[in-house]
Amino acid sequence: MMANGVAPGGQLTTTTDVENYPGFPKGIGGSKLMEAMRDQSERFGTEIITETVSKVDISKRPFKYWLEDAEDQEPNTADTLIIATGASARRLNLPGEDQYWQSGISACAVCDGAAPIFRGNPITVIGGGDSAAEEAIFLTKYGSKVTVLVRKDKLRASPIMARRLSTHPKVEIFYNTVAVEAKGDGRLLQSLSIKNVKTGEISDLPANGLFYAVGHEPATNLFKGQINVDEDGYILTKPGTSYTSVKGVFAAGDVQDKRYRQAITSAGSGCIAALECERLLAEEEEAGPEPIVEAKKSEVNGVILPEYKSNPLL
Ligand code: NAP
Repeated sequence: MMANGVAPGGQLTTTTDVENYPGFPKGIGGSKLMEAMRDQSERFGTEIITETVSKVDISKRPFKYWLEDAEDQEPNTADTLIIATGASARRLNLPGEDQYWQSGISACAVCDGAAPIFRGNPITVIGGGDSAAEEAIFLTKYGSKVTVLVRKDKLRASPIMARRLSTHPKVEIFYNTVAVEAKGDGRLLQSLSIKNVKTGEISDLPANGLFYAVGHEPATNLFKGQINVDEDGYILTKPGTSYTSVKGVFAAGDVQDKRYRQAITSAGSGCIAALECERLLAEEEEAGPEPIVEAKKSEVNGVILPEYKSNPLL
């Protein structure tokens, strides 16, 4: 199990309630959901090994992988591989951020936006890309007002998303503005110190919610140079499948999806990868082992030489 340095179980174990996973009308705690998934997979015989993989060689099958602190030892091998190392939301490391993380500060509006602490209260989103626009518009359903802090003088979001955002009656955009501190009552976030980077002016902005939308980092360093990735480092899969550029290597979840990034979409793509992986192994098993090419008999000037027989009884 690889957890992208977050925790065994992945990003979901570090969130509070997941509100949009089907089957849980009242939401479910991220850790609880992952524990249930773990139990369910163990019931079907999955062996879960909690280790960090630090090196891989997927240039040929069987693929080789080494565990952390054992890189000089014999590698472990795998006939197929599903990469589900995820992505982590970038954080800004503001003063106060650690204290109010998941107590007002989050990096996923869709996962956390419906929580009671945000309802009818002012919310801030940081970022100027498509995610920021999408998250801010989504949060207008819950917050009294949504303020978007953009560090430059323009949005990076696509024109349609930028227009939707800037014309929304519950959204205000502060350009050339960054957050410098998250403040609260010791328990929950209540406001932000913000700074206009052009004038240097610092002011207070009431905020019971702060959502980061400053991009994600896919955990693909391990596979650098060995598999095709896009310009942001996400693994490229054939649309509608989990196939990567390497036969026998499949990818699922956030490591190959920078758009939806939900527990349910990741679970769905994990299921696709498992089915495709199983199908490949079944096809290969049915086809049998690769045919062994018979060694050519020795010949001189077109005349086949008698075989060398070391056993006189033969
Ligand atoms: P993104 O496009 O990389 O945007 C990140 C935003 O965060 C940028 O506005 C950036 O500012 C800002 N930012 C980065 N570091 C910051 C910092 N330290 N302080 C303040 N602001 C900071 O990331 P994204 O919005 O997550 O989108 C990722 C990709 O997914 C994009 O290709 C996007 O089009 C796609 N996407 C599409 C949809 C959709 O089509 N509905 C939805 C979500 C995402 P600067 O502009 O100044 O660099």
